[in-house]
Amino acid sequence: MKTQAAVAVAPETDLEFRELTLDAPRPDELRIKMIASGVCHTDAIIRDQWYPVPQPVVLGHEGAGIVEEIGSAVTGYSVGDKVVLGPSFCSQCKQCLSGHPMYCEAFYDRNFGAQRPDGSTAFSTADGESVGSHFFGQSSFAEHTNVPAQGVVKVQDDAPLELLGPLGCGLMTGAGAVLNVLRPKPGSSIVIFGTGAVGMAGMLAAKAAGATTIIMVDIIAERLEFAKELGATHTVNSKETDPVEAVKEITGGGAEYALDTTGVPPVFSQMTRSLGVQGHGALVGAAKLGTEAPFDIGTLLVSGITVSMVIEGDAVPKEFIPRLIALYQEGKFPFDKLVKSYPFAEINTAFADSAAGTTLKPIVVF
Ligand SMILES: [Zn+2]
Ligand SMILES: [Zn+2]
Repeated sequence: MKTQAAVAVAPETDLEFRELTLDAPRPDELRIKMIASGVCHTDAIIRDQWYPVPQPVVLGHEGAGIVEEIGSAVTGYSVGDKVVLGPSFCSQCKQCLSGHPMYCEAFYDRNFGAQRPDGSTAFSTADGESVGSHFFGQSSFAEHTNVPAQGVVKVQDDAPLELLGPLGCGLMTGAGAVLNVLRPKPGSSIVIFGTGAVGMAGMLAAKAAGATTIIMVDIIAERLEFAKELGATHTVNSKETDPVEAVKEITGGGAEYALDTTGVPPVFSQMTRSLGVQGHGALVGAAKLGTEAPFDIGTLLVSGITVSMVIEGDAVPKEFIPRLIALYQEGKFPFDKLVKSYPFAEINTAFADSAAGTTLKPIVVF
């Protein structure tokens, strides 16, 4: 079938709208009619080739839509099911079998390979040139796409699809790092570096988990103000104040938990030094391959801290996304306050507003 897609063609260049041919879903795939897709920082850094994903490619990995066609080997889905799309994983390796599919041994190939495991792509141009697909198993910046069924999460019939796509990556990343990895105790303290969508999702999750000292650190005053409205108990503008000193003062020695959503080396270092004795910090922010960060092993040894590297919130999407929706419906995870919708045709404006920091989480609606 023919489908409209926004195609990444070169670094630092707007996505181009093209009519592509979508092939038939493979036996293990579902064809999805896309309703909406979040725009994630990772889409921008892949467009700009921080990781060598081959172009032209259809990006997008926070899709939400409706099942339109079902591969011959897929069970458990019906045409018309409402779904949220998550990352792709193999279901067979040691990490997948032990309940950690976001660390799938085939994760890089399946999510950044821009093709199926057999080397084919789902999209092609009218003159037969293949166009990369299966980005994060999805390539959701297309009106229709084929996705491996194991990453597809069914949601209730009345679920607001135009809102839910970011649960498949950005919001799962922040909330999952907090709820699945750090697991703050009720009454505990946490510091979160970065007030983007990932940091804000982490903040909402920390509040839902019962943390009572929630410190948000950033250099954008308006974002810190907004964080306070949504649940931060303290904010630190790290352009004006040393965040390590501030966190130690607020918490009386250091935070019990910390999250770095930036992937910026000096910020990672601040995170490790903001932790109190036996604190637990997690890095979720992506950096260019080869990035190193200073880490004072001399001083930190005696503090007994733990630092975790966390991909996609170490979530099992079919378990975790429904949990986030349930928290949202209870009013405990009001992530709708983080999003702004754009028509699909204005996807490049959505990228620009996200880069400028004027929109926390853009969603393009088809
Ligand atoms: Zn696997
Ligand atoms: Zn993402």
